[in-house]
Amino acid sequence: MEYKSIWELNDINENPKLNNDLEVDVVIVGGGIAGISTAYYLRNSNKKIILLEKDKVGNGVSKFTTGKLTYLQNDIYPNIIKDRSKSDALEYFNSQKEAIKLAKEIIYKHQIDCNLTPIASYLFAYNDTKSFNEEKDFLKEAKCQFEESKKLPINFPCKEALFVHDTFCFHPLKFITKLKEIINNSNLNIYENSIVKNIIKEDDYYIIETDSNKVKTKQVIITTNYPFFTFPKLLPLQLKLEKSYLLEATKNNEDNFLALSTDKPNYTFRIDNEHFIFGGYSHNLSKEINYQEKMNTVLDDFKKHFDNKINNYWSIHDVVSKDHLPLIGSLNKDNEGLLIATAFHKWGMTNGILAGKILSDIILDKTNKYKELFDPERDLKIKGIINMVTNDSLIGKAFIDSKLNKNKKDYKNVTFKNEDGVNIGIYIDENNIEHKIINRCPHLKSSLIFDEEAKVWICPCHGSMFDIDGNLLKGPSVDNITYKKS
Ligand SMILES: Cc1cc2nc3c(=O)[nH]c(=O)nc-3n(C[C@H](O)[C@H](O)[C@H](O)COP(=O)(O)OP(=O)(O)OC[C@H]3O[C@@H](n4cnc5c(N)ncnc54)[C@H](O)[C@@H]3O)c2cc1C
Repeated sequence: MEYKSIWELNDINENPKLNNDLEVDVVIVGGGIAGISTAYYLRNSNKKIILLEKDKVGNGVSKFTTGKLTYLQNDIYPNIIKDRSKSDALEYFNSQKEAIKLAKEIIYKHQIDCNLTPIASYLFAYNDTKSFNEEKDFLKEAKCQFEESKKLPINFPCKEALFVHDTFCFHPLKFITKLKEIINNSNLNIYENSIVKNIIKEDDYYIIETDSNKVKTKQVIITTNYPFFTFPKLLPLQLKLEKSYLLEATKNNEDNFLALSTDKPNYTFRIDNEHFIFGGYSHNLSKEINYQEKMNTVLDDFKKHFDNKINNYWSIHDVVSKDHLPLIGSLNKDNEGLLIATAFHKWGMTNGILAGKILSDIILDKTNKYKELFDPERDLKIKGIINMVTNDSLIGKAFIDSKLNKNKKDYKNVTFKNEDGVNIGIYIDENNIEHKIINRCPHLKSSLIFDEEAKVWICPCHGSMFDIDGNLLKGPSVDNITYKKS
């Protein structure tokens, strides 16, 4: 059993690092599903466009997904109705169907071998049926064709279930890597290992500072999952992070299906021709910080219900917004040239592809019927604001706890000390070798938590991740925390 995502591919085709200063029309920052889809849709435009990826394309959150293409997304529709309106929930429902259509169009057009599989999606309640019934009522109003059942195709607690047939699953990394190849055959250049450290507005231009060069551009599209800048718009205060856990086991049943529970803890299943993926257990990253304990709960729960051999397990966090809708489009009126796609609410396989279409339509001055729904400048509803105050206080508490070093749990292999005035975290590996890091996130200076399963340092406030030697794995930080004694 290995802590590793099953989607990891050995893509040996590495694109070059940016090594000269440039002037272009558009810079896309980040090569996950959202950035690469945007580049795909813009690849044949007559604009000069580049994509800058800090690592390798597809190595962000997109590598850790479940890879479902579905419009049944836990209890999202009743939540959108509560935070916004029924018409917005209906529009979101249609947008997700549209996103599945876009994914299929791309896959069929280029005959992408990414294991696209038509598969039934179940929603089920194993205990509390309230959210399930609200979701069912919404689906009826949306004229969604579903069937009902009292059980899942597998032996697992279930009081009520419904299922649809027009949903899919795929191999996310095979899809993304093929899009990279298609884009590499166009005029749009992708630079890998090129981290963007800063964006400066100068008159009508933006200056993008990478770790090696500067790029002058009229428009910037930020598809970095969590935005790495604080201003404009104070985005870290408007977004929160949810962490989820997955495992993959050897398949020993006949039925293929996807399933999601509407009650909490939420469960997710993806059982396709090859894989048996199980997990969920989403929680606010700032609220419950014993990530290792959570992962163990998932493993133990699985073993209680199934005797399949567990091969891999992993966890990751994704961005959610106050009103359950992604933010896609121009950041604000003063920064029309600065566009963003974030807060996919753990549904970035559909929303990332859709974001690519919306953002490319904006850049090419085309209309897009979903532009308004996801407009980052949209009005906030009162309920959303209240939710956010709770979220802000959670992040605030995590931040203060982190400052007071209250969040240090009982670690097996980690110690903390102050060396020459610097707070150090030390992980001692299985060979008894010490790995030291500076215990302070460069983003907004929080102390870090060590996830002993994943063997990464995580900022509980905004989700930056570092390896045991302090090398940056995931933003919003744009710097390492490596400790070198002077
Ligand atoms: C456990 C789990 C399961 C999920 N399952 C599903 C599912 O079944 N279906 C579904 O639709 N969604 C699912 N999601 C959600 C989906 O995986 C994400 O929403 C999606 O992958 C996010 O894509 P992204 O492009 O925004 O981010 P990423 O994939 O993280 O891409 C962002 C990229 O930007 C790069 N970057 C960051 N900072 C910089 C910088 N400063 N300079 C340059 N590059 C930078 C990163 O290296 C990264 O490659 C799941 C999420 C989780 C947590």
